[in-house]
Amino acid sequence: MSARILVVDDLEANRRLLQAKLTGEYYDVLTAQRGEEAVQLAKRERPDLILLDIMMPGGIDGFEACRRLKSQVETRHIPVVICTTLDDRESRIRGLQAGAEDFVTKPIDDVHLMARVKSLIQLKVVIDELRAREANGKKLGVIGEDLRPDPLDQHRLISGNVLVVDDSPNQIKRIQAALGVEHSVSVLGEDEKKDAPDLVVVSVTAKAFDGFRVIARMRSGEPTRHLPMLAVVDPDDRQRVLRALELGAHDIIARPVDEEEIMARARTLMRRKRYMDALRHRLDHSLELAITDQLTGLYNRRFVDAQLGPLVQRAQCGGDQVSITIVDIDHFKRINDGYGHDVGDAVLREFAARLASNVRPSDFACRLGGEEFVVVMPRTAGDVACLAAERIRRHTCAAPFHAPGLSEPLDVTISAGVACTEGPDDTPEALLKRADEALYEAKHSGRNRVVGRDAKSAA
Ligand code: GH3
Ligand code: MG
Ligand code: MG
Repeated sequence: MSARILVVDDLEANRRLLQAKLTGEYYDVLTAQRGEEAVQLAKRERPDLILLDIMMPGGIDGFEACRRLKSQVETRHIPVVICTTLDDRESRIRGLQAGAEDFVTKPIDDVHLMARVKSLIQLKVVIDELRAREANGKKLGVIGEDLRPDPLDQHRLISGNVLVVDDSPNQIKRIQAALGVEHSVSVLGEDEKKDAPDLVVVSVTAKAFDGFRVIARMRSGEPTRHLPMLAVVDPDDRQRVLRALELGAHDIIARPVDEEEIMARARTLMRRKRYMDALRHRLDHSLELAITDQLTGLYNRRFVDAQLGPLVQRAQCGGDQVSITIVDIDHFKRINDGYGHDVGDAVLREFAARLASNVRPSDFACRLGGEEFVVVMPRTAGDVACLAAERIRRHTCAAPFHAPGLSEPLDVTISAGVACTEGPDDTPEALLKRADEALYEAKHSGRNRVVGRDAKSAA
C-alpha cells in the first residue's frame, strides 16, 4: 500500500537515511528540516504519516511541532511518530502527551518502524475513506456541518470504557490506577461492564491465555473489529511486538506499565476511536436520512426508485413477480383547507402509521410525496396485492383519525391502484404508470376503493 510520508529532521544524513528506507518500501517521501516548515508542509500536502525529530536547532522543537500539527483541523488526523535520539522517559511522555501516536528512539530498529508505519497507514486509509465519503455527502447536501465538538480536539477530555484482558493482578492494578483517572476500567472475567469498550488493553505476556489469539479474534469479529487494542509486551521482545502489530494491535506498551505513558497512549487511541465512530455514525445517519421521508418516517421516493429497479429486473428474467399499490388519500385538500396544514400533517402521519402496521414485513411502505403513498410488495402476484391494498383501505376507514386541534375525529378514506410486473419488457416506470392509471380509475369511479391493473388489461 503506497502512501506519502513526511520526514522531519534537521540533519540531512538522517533525512536521507529514512528516505532511503521508506522509498525502499515503496512509500513516497516528503522532507522538511524544521518544525515550522513541517507544520506548513503538512497542512498543504496532507501526508499520510509524519516522522518527526525532536531536537531541531532554531525555531520550534518536535514537541511543539507535534502540538501544532495536532491542533490544526487540517492535520490533526494525521498520525505522528516521533523519531529521536532522546531515550529518556520524560521525553517519551512529553512526546505522547503532545499527541504523537508513537515515540521511537534512534538508532531506529527498521523492522519495528516499518511495522508501526504500516499499521498506522492502514488506519489512516480507513480514516481517509470515511472522510472522503463524508466530504461527498456534504457536497451532495445529505450531510450537514457537524456542530458537535471534534474528538480530535486536544483540549477536550475524552473518557470512555476500557476493557483489560490480563492475568497479572499487579499489572491489572497498575493499569486500573492509571486509566481509572479518566476512564471507566473493567477487567475481562471479573467486573466486566455491559457497555461496549472503547479500548482494549491486552497482555501478550499472560500465561493463562494467548494474548495474540485475543487480538486476532477481536480484530476479525464484527462488533469488535474497529476497537483499538493496546498490547502489553515485554521490553525488547521485538518478535512479540511485531506479531502484535501484525495481528492488528493499534499500539504497544512495554511492561512494567508506566502510568503516565499508558494514560497518554490511551487518550490518543480513544480520541481516534471516537473520531472514527462519529464519522461512521454520521455516514449511517445520512444514508438513513437520504431514504427516509421526514414527515412520516416511511421510506421516500428515492428508496422506491432504488428498490424497484432490481425487483422488476428479476421479474423480467423469470424471477418472482413484484406488485405495487399506489395509495392516495381522498379529498385531502379539504382536510387542509378545513382544518389547517398542521392537521393535514397529523393525518398524514397517522395514515403512515396505519399503513406501516398493515403491510407484511417483507413489503416496503413509502411516501411518494404529498398525500400519495406506495407499498412495494416483492414476490407478490397482482391478486394477492389487491387483497393487501383492500386491507389497507379497510383499516383506514374503519376508525376515524384523531389529530391535536380537532374537536372531533375525522373520517378518512383512501383510493388505491394496484399493478404487477408482466412480461420481459416491463420497467419500473411502466409499473408505476399502470398503478397510477388504476388509481385514477378508482378516484373516478367513486373513491374509497381499490382497482387492480395488469399489463394485459392496460394494453
Ligand atoms: P383526491 O381525492 O382526488 O386525491 O383529492 P385531494 O384533495 O386528495 O388531491 P389534491 O391533489 O387536489 O390535493 C392534495 C393536497 O395535499 C394539496 C396539497 O397542498 C396537500 N399536501 C401536499 N403535501 C402535503 C403535506 O406534506 N402536508 C399537508 N398538510 N398537505 C400536503
Ligand atoms: Mg388525494
Ligand atoms: Mg393527489
